[in-house]
Amino acid sequence: MSKFWSSMVKRTEPYVPGEQVNQQKIVKLNTNENPYPPSPKVMEAIRGEMERNLQLYPSPTADDLRETIGRQYGLTADEVFVGNGSDEVLAFSFMAFFEPGQPIRFPDVTYSFYPVYAKLFDIPYEEVPLNRDFTLQIDKFFQSKGGVILPNPNAPTSLYAELDTIEEIVKNNPDRVVIIDEAYIDFAAKSVAELIQQYDNLLVVQTTSKSRSLAGLRVGFAMGNHSLIDALIRIKDSFNSYTLDRLALVGAKAAFEDEAYFKEITAKIIATRNETTVALKQLGFAVLPSQANFIFASHSSVSAERLYNELKKEGVLVRYFNKPGIDNYLRMTIGTDEQMERLLEKLTEIL
Ligand code: PMP
Repeated sequence: MSKFWSSMVKRTEPYVPGEQVNQQKIVKLNTNENPYPPSPKVMEAIRGEMERNLQLYPSPTADDLRETIGRQYGLTADEVFVGNGSDEVLAFSFMAFFEPGQPIRFPDVTYSFYPVYAKLFDIPYEEVPLNRDFTLQIDKFFQSKGGVILPNPNAPTSLYAELDTIEEIVKNNPDRVVIIDEAYIDFAAKSVAELIQQYDNLLVVQTTSKSRSLAGLRVGFAMGNHSLIDALIRIKDSFNSYTLDRLALVGAKAAFEDEAYFKEITAKIIATRNETTVALKQLGFAVLPSQANFIFASHSSVSAERLYNELKKEGVLVRYFNKPGIDNYLRMTIGTDEQMERLLEKLTEIL
């Protein structure tokens, strides 16, 4: 603390991301990255752009990328916003749609960046308890004073709520924005983006960090009614005209254009997830039915904290949250088949 700090800096409690390690030998299953590289078309596009245009500023409106993303969901460019990772898109959304003095709601077990943004922007919040089985208590999200934000599938629980559940929440907050954070949606049944034309208070946020293998490029996006998108653009243009650089713009566009590659690796991860779930159950784990690229599991006799530490010693990094309610669970990212075999081998040894 210093006398030079603004009250904003003083009240922040920054988010702590999962450890990033450089050792090649580590099996890194702690930050839900994609184990497969991006489409070769992404590299091609980035290489071309590097050779041609880096001396010039990128497009401040990112129309080309917004149009490409919109096409995936039958939306126009003015119903899409792009930003530097979905974390930035979420931060802008808090500024654009939530108000100091009006409490917002999110689940008590959820993405731990939400309370960080709330504190930063001085927005009060209510943490809505999940049911014992980690599903949502839907009606507790109705008629919120300040708005609602929740991930679907939820993180770190990996559970997916059906579209009609999400729709109920959107419908019962007609005067407030409901943000659905779909970071993991491509590993699940269906996006709620198809309801955007029906609900002007629905904002759907997604990312290229998971299913498109572009965590290192930092491209996230939001989809919603054009007046919501206008609000995000007003915030962005009051902050930084060029949040996405030239490489990110062309790389992300190429990723969306290679649908075949996207489908192939997504299907592979889902298959590996389902096989890993079966194997973990055989080892005595209770595994939540995941619709994400990670698994949330708890062992019947050995504590999650101990397993986390033992795995780490053995060069396998998973995520452990020392938080009431989930402190006996491990969150394990789905890697390649080989990586998951290493995880299972080490778990077998430890147990
Ligand atoms: N939302 C959720 C639920 C997440 O788990 C993550 C990844 N940590 C993000 C958003 C942010 O992803 P990114 O900034 O890489 O798009």
